[in-house]
Amino acid sequence: MKAIRVHEFGGPEVLKLEEVPDPQPGPGQVVVRVHAVGVNPVEAYIRTGTYAAKPNLPYTPGGDSGGVVLAVGPGVKRLKAGDRVYTTASLTGTYAEQALCDEAKVQRLPDHVSFEQGAAMGIPYGTAYRGLFQRAEAKPAETVLVHGASGGVGTAAVQLARAAGMVVIGTAGSEDGMKLVMEQGAHHALNHATEGYLDELMKLTEGRGVDVIIELLANKNLARDLTVLARKGRVAVIGNRGTIEINPRDAMSREADIRGVTLMNTSDAEYKEMHAALIAGLESGALHPVIGERIPLAEAARAHAEIMRASGARGKMVLVA
Ligand code: NAP
Repeated sequence: MKAIRVHEFGGPEVLKLEEVPDPQPGPGQVVVRVHAVGVNPVEAYIRTGTYAAKPNLPYTPGGDSGGVVLAVGPGVKRLKAGDRVYTTASLTGTYAEQALCDEAKVQRLPDHVSFEQGAAMGIPYGTAYRGLFQRAEAKPAETVLVHGASGGVGTAAVQLARAAGMVVIGTAGSEDGMKLVMEQGAHHALNHATEGYLDELMKLTEGRGVDVIIELLANKNLARDLTVLARKGRVAVIGNRGTIEINPRDAMSREADIRGVTLMNTSDAEYKEMHAALIAGLESGALHPVIGERIPLAEAARAHAEIMRASGARGKMVLVA
């Protein structure tokens, strides 16, 4: 089969398409014929070799995909060859025509959901779910600001919050992005590239502020976030690309919490809860991943170059294998 291989850490050009042996499933393992691969910023960070998680070289990137089970190993009970599935982690990497996975990391994909949409579930929807419910403990009737709502994680957070009965305000950096955010179910959209957009937020909440902030670019926004939180408010920090100075008094006076979010810290029990909820959302239609550019697997290097020029409003980028 064909797979993207990384033999040295570096720029996008280190992603090379090669011929490798087909994976064979061992006990409790599943081989998936990958049709679509979710491309996430973290895979670009890992590829540079400067990220906390550093795989042994050579390796094939990726954990998110949508496809069909090709073969199962001894002891696999939940899945069989021919099942439509999405994967959230892989032992051999999903930037490939086939991926070997632990059975536990392979989930059934409802019939009406495309492979591309399945490929958008693992990191984006998993992270949005973890941020919103497992870390920020957001509740129905609360008001949520999704700060960076036009991207993969942000659109997922808007859909999840709306479906759970929250008042949802989302930000984007363009008119197209704001339109996308409204289409995902936000009650209001603001433009984070304009002056004074957080003053508008305070008007929308009649001066009270928001209960929860899902923060996708904390190094830019955390200081201001703390000033627009309601009492007992929570900021879930999901995305961060640098440092920032905050005034702790803003958290103190509101008894506010800053809560870090790391998807990789999800326990087995939390993972089960997360994907039961996400699959129910796919089945009901409340969750409907927005797919943007479809790039051939062979052009993974172009996908990595593009993913770091972060601009929302384009939907989830996928590789097609
Ligand atoms: P993405 O699809 O590229 O989206 C990036 C988002 O950031 C867009 O909505 C973009 O909006 C927004 N943004 C740009 N400038 C902003 C600003 N000044 N304020 C607020 N938002 C701004 O990326 P993604 O896959 O959603 O991931 C987003 C971030 O979360 C990345 O840094 C990623 O590494 C991180 N992440 C962390 C975890 C974790 O476990 N902690 C898991 C997954 C992802 P516009 O383009 O419309 O301006």
